[in-house]
Amino acid sequence: MESKLPDVGVTIFTVMSQLAQESGAINLSQGFPDFDVSPQLIDRVTHYMQAGYNQYAPMQGVPALRAAIAAKVEALYGGRYDPETEVTVTSGATEALYAAVSAVVRPGDEVIIVEPAYDAYEPVVRLNGGVPVFVPLSFPDYRIDWDTIGRRFTPQTRALILNTPHNPTGTTLGAADIAALEALVGLYDFFIICDEVYEHIVFDGRSHQSLARFPMLWPRSFIVSSFGKTYHATGWKVGYCLAPGVLTREFRKIHQYLTFATSTPVQMALADHLAASDDHLALADFYQAKRDRFRELLAATRFRPLACEGTYFQMVDYSAITTEADTVFARRLTTDFGVAAIPPSVFYHDQRDDHVLRFCFAKHDQTLEEAVEKLCRI
Ligand code: PMP
Ligand code: GLN
Repeated sequence: MESKLPDVGVTIFTVMSQLAQESGAINLSQGFPDFDVSPQLIDRVTHYMQAGYNQYAPMQGVPALRAAIAAKVEALYGGRYDPETEVTVTSGATEALYAAVSAVVRPGDEVIIVEPAYDAYEPVVRLNGGVPVFVPLSFPDYRIDWDTIGRRFTPQTRALILNTPHNPTGTTLGAADIAALEALVGLYDFFIICDEVYEHIVFDGRSHQSLARFPMLWPRSFIVSSFGKTYHATGWKVGYCLAPGVLTREFRKIHQYLTFATSTPVQMALADHLAASDDHLALADFYQAKRDRFRELLAATRFRPLACEGTYFQMVDYSAITTEADTVFARRLTTDFGVAAIPPSVFYHDQRDDHVLRFCFAKHDQTLEEAVEKLCRI
């Protein structure tokens, strides 16, 4: 059978996590926290399951959760989204990204993707007949070159996919980036799909530049986020999309046939938790301490940490150790040294290899210490 995605294999996250498991390695590859979900939140989920909230949720998400999301967004970023018509709860950010791209991209449309790019973006563009147009971040500081982006616009450009804080590099959009984006909006007609799943993990006093802060950008933006990162619950797969009514209408047409609705008791519990707790506001300090501890430990190794402004990922330059390709080195590190990492070349369409690896530091200190002890041996 002719494949619709001939170049696509199994995602690197599955490949590396499986190799880590087979090798008995410490898994700092696939990004997921090993911290417990708050007992209060677990209690709300079990409460709603036991209270009989076990049938389909409304297609667009339970009203209380949509209201709580809109309230949080307005409190933090100022953007006002109507929970009825502009907020949709999805089965993870992954589903929201798929639905947003499908809602706007038509055959032949060009979609600008900044690389390295989270691996879900490109295949979804292609499945919708779109043409990905790749623009690399600079190395090693991983900034967006807005002049290059401007030059890649054509009459076929339909959308730009952004991700802040950025996976895998840990960079964030700043005021100058937003100004450049606003300038582009003045010149061209295009949609923005902004992946903000790490919105609460931003370091060193920076504030997250959600597109929900910028009235010039709202009318054309789909903002995607996820509760997985925020509540240490990546396995629950609940996310959401904010977009103006006209865009949300199209978004929901796709969402209703992709999954229709998302887990009812989990949505009910998240609504209570979001309204009752400020857990999300404590996340930046929590992960900043993890980042600092991990970087301090890495000082004893030959891995050189690059800047990390947000997310729970740390990029490290390993050029002092070997000239091996990152995919080869990531495997060897897992099988021979017992620590699994992600090779970022898989996030480039041309497998660009800068001899760096991505480690996930969303782990207990003891795990990070054990991992770095192994990294010291190389
Ligand atoms: N976007 C980025 C940048 C991610 O890192 C992830 C997942 N880790 C997702 C989207 C997907 O989020 P979810 O698990 O909620 O589908
Ligand atoms: N987003 C996570 C990462 O970057 C993994 C998500 C997944 O496994 N699909 O590692």
